Formats: sequence, C-alpha cells, structure tokens
Amino acid sequence: QAKARGRNGYRFYAPSMTGEGVERLRLETWLRRSLEKDEMFLNYQPQVEIDTGRLIGVEALVRWNHPELGLVPPVRFIPLAEDSGFISQLGEWVLAQACRQMVRWEAAGLVVPKIAVNLSVRQFERGTIVRTVGDILRETGLAPHRLQLEVTESLIMNTGDALQYINGLHALGVSLAIDDFGTGYSSLAYLKQMPVQTLKIDRSFIKDIHEDANDEAIAIAIIQLGKSMNLSVIAEGVETDEQAAFLLRHGCKQAQGYFYSRPVMPDDLLHRWLP
Ligand code: C2E
Ligand code: MG
Ligand code: MG
Ligand code: MG
Repeated sequence: QAKARGRNGYRFYAPSMTGEGVERLRLETWLRRSLEKDEMFLNYQPQVEIDTGRLIGVEALVRWNHPELGLVPPVRFIPLAEDSGFISQLGEWVLAQACRQMVRWEAAGLVVPKIAVNLSVRQFERGTIVRTVGDILRETGLAPHRLQLEVTESLIMNTGDALQYINGLHALGVSLAIDDFGTGYSSLAYLKQMPVQTLKIDRSFIKDIHEDANDEAIAIAIIQLGKSMNLSVIAEGVETDEQAAFLLRHGCKQAQGYFYSRPVMPDDLLHRWLP
C-alpha cells in the first residue's frame, strides 16, 4: 500500500503486488459505500478557446478520497464501478453535482458557458438515461444547452439502442461530444446519423504531435473531419505552447490540458476565471 503523502496532502493509492483479487474485493466494498460516506467529489478542468484564452467550458472529473487509501484515481475505480453496476448511482450523482455547481458559480458571478460530463456505457444499458438527465436538469434548473455529455466511440458502437438514446438526449436540448476520438473504432457512416456536436481528439495523438508524423497526420485528419461534418473539435491533453500553436495553425480552435489548467476545485476555478 502506498502511504507516501502526495501533492495537496493526498496519499495516492497503489495496489499491493500480491492479492489482486482480495484488493479488488475490498475496493469494491468500499466503493459501494463511498457516496453515503461523502468521499466522492468533483474536479473541474477548464476548456479554452486557443487564440483568446477565453473559458468556454469545464469538464467534470470525479475523484475518490478514501480515508485509508487516499486519493484513488478514476482509472482504478471507474472500471470497478462499471463491473459492479455502482456506476449508475455514481453517474447520477456526478451529473447532479455538476449541474448544481454550474448554478452555484453563476450565483457567485461566474458564468461558465457549459459543463461536460462523462457517461459510461452501463448508464445507457439501463434504458433510463434520457429520463434521468431530464429529471436532473429540471431539479437543478440548469439550462439544457449548457450541459454536454461525453460518450466514447465504443459506447456508441456497442450499445444496441445507442442511436435511440442519443436522439432522446439531443431532444432534451443537451449537446453530445465523442470523447477520446480516434482511439475506438466507430464507423463514420454511423457517426453521421448521430446528433453529435463535438469531437475530442484523444490525448495520445497530442502528446508527441511534434515528433510523431503519424500522430500529426491523425490529428490533422480529425480536425478536417470535424470541419467537413460541421462539428467542433477540441484537443485533450494539451501541455505545451507548441502543441497549442500547432492545433491553431491547423484549424483546431479549442483545447483542454495542463498547459491551461489541471482539473481544480470549484473555488479555484472561480478565483482564476472571475471577470
Ligand atoms: P477523460 O474523460 O478522457 O478525461 C481526461 C483525463 O485526462 C482526465 O484524467 C484529466 O485529468 C486528464 N488530463 C487532462 N489534461 C491533461 C494533460 O494535459 N496531461 C495529462 N497527462 N492528462 C491530462 P482523470 O481525471 O484521471 O480521468 C480519467 C478518465 O476517467 C476520464 O478520461 C474518464 O474516462 C474517466 N472519468 C473521470 N470522471 C468520470 C465520471 O464522472 N464518469 C465516468 N463514467 N468516467 C469518468
Ligand atoms: Mg472526458
Ligand atoms: Mg477524453
Ligand atoms: Mg482521454
């Protein structure tokens, strides 16, 4: 067990070398109680317009702070939550929390144009996603056009009724983004039928954009695809000025990444971006 104190006073969780199964079971048990114990919280990562640096939105990213394990990263607990079905409950909590936060920022004088929330494939399988999102928008009072839902290519391709649900969400007035675009296998013909507004270029193509000709070619192709399909394109994982300049030169106007800001607590966002 990792017990070293990390940044922000959080201890970072790393599994022991042995007993993977036991570890997993323990995590799952703890995970199921995490919401009632108030251990989950959201961080928000700014999305900006590259040429002006203007805040165009934020992505909500869930965090789990366990009293013994410390801060457990989403890559360790989201798959567990998906396997156990807990993701439905967690996903609803994230959605409601994110929408409430938008209303709170506004009350404090900061209008964040939109909030992006990640959806898991399991939230679609239950068949209640459209009603759930509609209920949360009504309860929180957030205008639907200010909510963007992020889905992956595999969610779209592997969910039987994906088109039906996505049409239903679109009808509510929320927008849809395809996350990690380029890493899955989606059919462009299928994509064309989807009322999707945004493509998010995956971080893996941005990372070595200056050294790797393939990554460069892929990023440019996605930007072109977005242009010809009339979609906005945002690059994930932008860490340097050079990457941002490259994107702008090739017609990608929006970015998200450590170069602009790490995911932060709501008050940090407020203080940094308040006009
Ligand atoms: P994602 O949706 O693709 O989110 C972007 C991830 O990249 C975040 O990791 C973010 O912190 C990280 N990131 C952003 N900019 C940079 C950068 O410049 N450099 C690097 N190295 N990383 C950057 P995080 O928060 O650990 O989340 C990982 C994944 O977990 C997310 O990937 C998403 O798939 C999933 N996730 C997070 N929150 C939720 C949630 O509420 N629901 C669901 N279903 N999945 C979530
Ligand atoms: Mg995302
Ligand atoms: Mg992503
Ligand atoms: Mg990604």
